[in-house]
Amino acid sequence: MSLPRCPHCRSAVNPAWFARCIGCGADVPPAPPAPPQGRRQVPPVLKEARRDTNGVFGLLVLVGVLGILGIFTGARQGVLLILSSATGMVGVVAMIAKVMHVGPRSTGPSCLQLAGAVVLCGIGLLFGAGILLGFVCSKLGD
Ligand SMILES: [Zn+2]
Repeated sequence: MSLPRCPHCRSAVNPAWFARCIGCGADVPPAPPAPPQGRRQVPPVLKEARRDTNGVFGLLVLVGVLGILGIFTGARQGVLLILSSATGMVGVVAMIAKVMHVGPRSTGPSCLQLAGAVVLCGIGLLFGAGILLGFVCSKLGD
């Protein structure tokens, strides 16, 4: 499955995930150009991963909201932020494992799987930053 390319810098961008080019920030064509051989089907692994991702993200949003509420309610906000970010990271790691899972017949992860893992790693870094922020908040609270 080929991804549409950014007209400016030729980076491959999945418009289902990104509204803008990862490389240069330019607008990405909303829909991929029609594939020549009519291969429009999403690989089953990704479908499954996306379904799981939806459920996990619902949970993460809930945990994240609790963490944010903790920030605004004052005491122990750092601890809550660390807890929610750590929970988020666990979820992201689980999703990476899910996305990168390849069947016994497969020779290795596809480009799309790798791209998904890279995106999830990015999200994981955000949660990592949340943990650091939590520690900073804890220090400031003392
Ligand atoms: Zn670009």
